[in-house]
Amino acid sequence: MPRPIEALIHTEALAHNLGRARAQAPNARVWAVVKANAYGHGIERAFEGLRAADGFALLDLAEAERLRALDWRGPILLLEGVFEPRDLELCSRLKLWHSVHCEQQIDWLAMHKTHEPHRVFLKLNSGMNRLGFTPAAFRAAYARLEALPQVDEIGLMTHFSDADSLRQGVDGIAHQLAAFEAATEGLAGERSIANSAATLRHPGRTAQDWVRAGIMSYGGVPDFPEHDAAYWDLRPAMTLRSRIIGVQQLQPGDTIGYGSAFTAERVTRAGIVACGYADGYPRHAPTGTPILVDGKRTRTLGRVSMDMLAVDLSELPASGFGSEVTLWGEGPHGSRLPIDEVAQSAGTIGYELMCAITPRVPIRNA
Ligand code: PLP
Repeated sequence: MPRPIEALIHTEALAHNLGRARAQAPNARVWAVVKANAYGHGIERAFEGLRAADGFALLDLAEAERLRALDWRGPILLLEGVFEPRDLELCSRLKLWHSVHCEQQIDWLAMHKTHEPHRVFLKLNSGMNRLGFTPAAFRAAYARLEALPQVDEIGLMTHFSDADSLRQGVDGIAHQLAAFEAATEGLAGERSIANSAATLRHPGRTAQDWVRAGIMSYGGVPDFPEHDAAYWDLRPAMTLRSRIIGVQQLQPGDTIGYGSAFTAERVTRAGIVACGYADGYPRHAPTGTPILVDGKRTRTLGRVSMDMLAVDLSELPASGFGSEVTLWGEGPHGSRLPIDEVAQSAGTIGYELMCAITPRVPIRNA
């Protein structure tokens, strides 16, 4: 009997969420962002649900090869571009769009002997200060690319740092949007600036030619202070579920787990769940993190261990050994626990939880 933990992927939810991106940005095309093994969902499974996307955006050549192996012939964008000159060869062979964010990548293109012309997205650093040319250097970089026989098409992109928050004044994008518009004014090329946060919150101003829908494709919301995934009609694409493999009766004063981080104040029935941080569940989720047992909401107790965590069954007399536990996602009888709620309790974001599922957790279609 295998250990009773598994991650279920809801491909129909992926398709639904892609439709939500389209509805938010009806005149744009959608790059479904499938980097990090499709945010932990598995590229192949994610592709089943997202195949109606206009293109796929990801990080490395190995992931691009996996997509081409699925017979995806449409656009693929390497979000960070190539990491060394020889990657350009594979870019040609796989017919990838690749982002160009620094002079070295232009140098490599200039030296590259190619049969297939390259298609690139020139990246502006509009304020995030991660990757990209500064506004002052952007036009010169564009001119360099335009002069290269190796380059066929040039798109224009940037990435928002605060589209999900209310920092930077009113809406979190104004400053970067203005920088992008000024830097690209009059330049030819398709434009792509919106991530999920911008697509959800500022579609009219950011959709442009292509949106890049990451977290929303998987049914999570960016780090929004105000609205949850249900508000945006996004459906969870991943369920993490397990079972109760042990039950303990705690007397007042008894503790549970490492560090005795939870002390029972009254008689407490605790269920032990086959899921721990070695499965990807966040160790820093404190007592009180929401969790479903047999589809009913309860809370975790004490510290998460490597292979187990404890839940409070005191209010759930019908549940016990063998009961189904939903760590996040869709539970039985139409129940649901948004991954974002678990993430918030653990002081992180849904993105991290999805990506953290470890290889020992079997992933299968729901
Ligand atoms: N575009 C770029 C350049 C990214 O790095 C990411 C993810 O971090 C995305 C788009 C997708 O972002 P999100 O998952 O917030 O939609």
